[in-house]
Amino acid sequence: MLRATKDVVMPTTITGSLPRPSWYTENLGNRSFLDAMVISRFREQYVDALSAYLREQEVAGLDIVTDGDCRFNQDIGGQSWTSYPPNHMEGFDRDRPKLAAVNAGGIGFPRGHILHDYLEARVMPKIVGPIGRGELQYAEMFKAAQRLTEKPVKFGTVTPELVAFAVQDEYYKTIPERIMAISDALNQELHDLADAGCSVIQLEEPQIHLLAARNYVDTVINPQFMLEVFNNTVKGLRAKTEVWCHTCWGNPSQQRMFGSVQSYKPALELLNKVDADVITFEMKSSNLLDLEDVGKTITDMKVCIGAIDHHTLQVETPGEVADVIRAALKVIPAERLVLSSDCGMGREGMSRRHAFYKMVSLVQGTNIVKKELGLPVKESMGADPKFTLLRTK
Ligand SMILES: [Zn+2]
Repeated sequence: MLRATKDVVMPTTITGSLPRPSWYTENLGNRSFLDAMVISRFREQYVDALSAYLREQEVAGLDIVTDGDCRFNQDIGGQSWTSYPPNHMEGFDRDRPKLAAVNAGGIGFPRGHILHDYLEARVMPKIVGPIGRGELQYAEMFKAAQRLTEKPVKFGTVTPELVAFAVQDEYYKTIPERIMAISDALNQELHDLADAGCSVIQLEEPQIHLLAARNYVDTVINPQFMLEVFNNTVKGLRAKTEVWCHTCWGNPSQQRMFGSVQSYKPALELLNKVDADVITFEMKSSNLLDLEDVGKTITDMKVCIGAIDHHTLQVETPGEVADVIRAALKVIPAERLVLSSDCGMGREGMSRRHAFYKMVSLVQGTNIVKKELGLPVKESMGADPKFTLLRTK
C-alpha cells in the first residue's frame, strides 16, 4: 500500500547509502546491533553519524530519507551491503569466513581491475545449517533512525539471491533451495520491520534485469525465478506498508558492474510484475536510455527515476535535474513519478559534500518543474540565499 509517497506529487529521495563521516571510525562488524549499542563509544558514533545523515537529507529538502546505511562497515567497495545478512543471520559459520569462489554469482574481474579488490573482499561465512533471521535487527535499526526525524525513513536491504550467490554452502543441496531459505527468513524480518512502523521498505537489486541483460541462459537461475524470489521475499508486506523495488547496474567503489551502459528492455515485462508499490530505474547515468520503454511498460506501479548519477563527482545542476524530470513526465504521469539518485552515494568513493550538493540539486531541480506545473514547492534550505555567510552589503 502507498504510505510514504501517498498523496505526495513527485517526492524526492535517495537510494540508501551516504559517504561516511571521517570521524565515524567504529564498525559494527559481526556484533549484533543491540550488543554494539551497549558500548558507549559505538553508540555515540552511530547515533551522531545517523543524525548527520538524516540532518543533511532534511536540509537538502528530501521528502523521504534513509539512515544512510549507517550499520555497514567501512570496507572495500561497500561489501557490507552483501555481507551484513550472512554475518548476522542464523545458519552461517561466522568463526571461519571463506573467500567467495572465483566467478561466484557469475561475476569476475581480472586482477588489475578495481573491482578485483571488491571480489577479494567477499570474505563470507559459509552456510552450515538451516538459515534463520538470527540477529538482523532491522526493526531496531529502523527505530533508531525514525525517532530522530519526522520524515519517513526508507529502510533497504540486499536481495536474498545476492547473498546466496556470494557465500559457500555445505547445507543446502541446490542454489534455489538456498535462495528461498534466505528469502523466507528475510520475509519474516521485513514483516517485523513493517510492524515496527516502517513506512517504506526497499528491496535492493533483484537480479531480474541483470540476468536478462547478460543473456544468462539457465533453466533454473533465470529472470523468471528471480521474480518469484522477489515476490516471495515481500509476501504479505504490501498489506502493511509501502514496498519499493530498487534496480540499478551496481555501485561498488562507484563503479558500474558492466563496462558499457546496459539496457533494462529485456527485463521490463517481468519488472512490471514485481509485487511492489514503487520501482526505481537508473536513468541519469545512462542518459535516459529506456525511459520511453519504462514509461510504456511499467503501468502498475509508481516509477522512481534516477536524476542524479552516483558514479560521478560532478554535481548535476538543478537545470540538468529538471531536464531529466521533464523528459520523464512525457512518459510517466506526475502522480506516478518519484525522483531519486540512480543508486546509493556509497561510503568510500564520494565526499559528504558532493553527496550533499547532489541532494540539494535534486530538490532544486524538482522544484523548477513543480513550479512549471503550478505545484506547491518547499525550497531547499541548503540553497536558501538568506543564509549565505558572504557579505551582501
Ligand atoms: Zn543500486
